[in-house]
Amino acid sequence: QYTPNRLYRQTPHSMALAAAAERIAAEFEYPKEQVQKGVTAFMRQMDEGLQVQGATLSQIPTYVTAVPNGTEKGLYMAVDLGGTNFRVCSIQLHGNSTFSLTQSKVKIPGDLMTAKTSHELFSFLAKQVETFLKTHHGEHYSSHVERRKKSSMLSGESYSDEDVFSLGFTFSFPVQQYGINKGTLIRWTKGFDIPDAVGKDVCALLQKELDALHLPIRVAALVNDTVGTLMARSYTSPGKTGTLLGAIFGTGTNGAYVEKLSRLTKLAKMGPEAGDVETSTGEMIVNTEWGSFDNHLSVLPTTSFDRTLDAASNNPGIQMFEKRISGMFLGEILRRCLLALIHDPSTPLFTDEHSNQNDMHSTTNIHDDSPLYRPHGLDTSFLSIASGDASPGLKVTRQALDIEYGVSAASAEDAEAVRLISSAIGKRAARLSAVAIAAVVLSTGKLTNTTGNADDDTIDIGVDGSLVEFYPNFEDYLREALREVPSIGPAGEQRIRIGIAKDGSGVGAALIALVAERERAGGNA
Ligand code: BGC
Ligand code: MG
Repeated sequence: QYTPNRLYRQTPHSMALAAAAERIAAEFEYPKEQVQKGVTAFMRQMDEGLQVQGATLSQIPTYVTAVPNGTEKGLYMAVDLGGTNFRVCSIQLHGNSTFSLTQSKVKIPGDLMTAKTSHELFSFLAKQVETFLKTHHGEHYSSHVERRKKSSMLSGESYSDEDVFSLGFTFSFPVQQYGINKGTLIRWTKGFDIPDAVGKDVCALLQKELDALHLPIRVAALVNDTVGTLMARSYTSPGKTGTLLGAIFGTGTNGAYVEKLSRLTKLAKMGPEAGDVETSTGEMIVNTEWGSFDNHLSVLPTTSFDRTLDAASNNPGIQMFEKRISGMFLGEILRRCLLALIHDPSTPLFTDEHSNQNDMHSTTNIHDDSPLYRPHGLDTSFLSIASGDASPGLKVTRQALDIEYGVSAASAEDAEAVRLISSAIGKRAARLSAVAIAAVVLSTGKLTNTTGNADDDTIDIGVDGSLVEFYPNFEDYLREALREVPSIGPAGEQRIRIGIAKDGSGVGAALIALVAERERAGGNA
């Protein structure tokens, strides 16, 4: 199925290259039977995670027990840390399924991702919040913050509750939650590594730095981005059936879904504080942390490129599902494939056809300082560009190679090899994503509970992330794999509605902050 259809010249050079590229692309095939095996294993690991702590799939209770219905109202703040950017937003919920959002976004400086202390990271975050408040809520800032600074100098903290913004903290890493705004970091993912934060309450870390700046903000809710996405989708999505699953296919990958409390049997064993949950719905949103599905590799497809990528990562042996799916890694897989072609003299990628192929240095078209030679030097966005390139002679890909990656004069055959491998990596990622979605749909029994009314029988899924947004045909590939799962089939696949909840984690976090405030008010009354 990866037969190159744009081979321009039948020279020995280009035929050798095409054959080698096809061979590598074929390593990323993930056939139907494997998809089915994956779904079965995924469902088993989901069950295990609901019963015991410390299972492969963490299945983290979130203490969020209801999804919104669109009538929620109020002004909230949210911050979002978890991938490439740090976002600060304020969200006005209008109560009619719509909202307005003001936001600022900064790229997280690379050195902060591996800072020596968590203080460095969290004080940076608090400063961004301060800047945001000054810029977008200047009146609030000057009336309350100035007052608060003075009063704290005189008499410690004294100011009224109305002055305080409730903030939802989207923190997109595995956190063991103990309450709606309490939770300790289990491990870092996606290139972050600040050892002293592990085991600490990340809400408290943020609150401390906000307080140090005298900001009138209470961290009211701790939210995984998948949970935020689920809430956001549920708030805005049409129809009365709530959303079942929120999923991220971006820098990382993960999903959160609505589970029956009766199946979440480990909750009662997690201690009185954790287990003491009242809910009228009998449900709770569970954060699967599916990035670590099948860490022991019983069913996941594994190429030599996956193996060396994992070994060179800062978290070898974990997040194995994520390492095959998400934006943090797909570019790196591709880079490793391209290097294999570059370094093998019999498969002359990026060399001149008429030059002496036994002398790599005189023939290569790659600059010595090309990012292709640096770990993580190839951005996943390039994978989307190459996979989707429909320009004549793959000009767009060749231009990107030239401008971004120091490959001058790449030929159409070069670009075709790159395109072929890019598509294979992306397609495998999309089919693996289908495994997770299928498993959640099947294990919640949503397909078998039918009312016969098409509206009610729709299974709604909210998604976000650069991959679903930008990778060409991601959803098509994903749906194709869903249909191949025998217990879903074309009929089941049609009932699944997938909607983008772009940057939904901000609104979602606001919605959870709202729920948390209500509970807090109820508790105080
Ligand atoms: C994290 C999850 C997060 C996902 C998507 C993963 O690396 O472990 O908590 O939801 O990335 O951002
Ligand atoms: Mg994000």
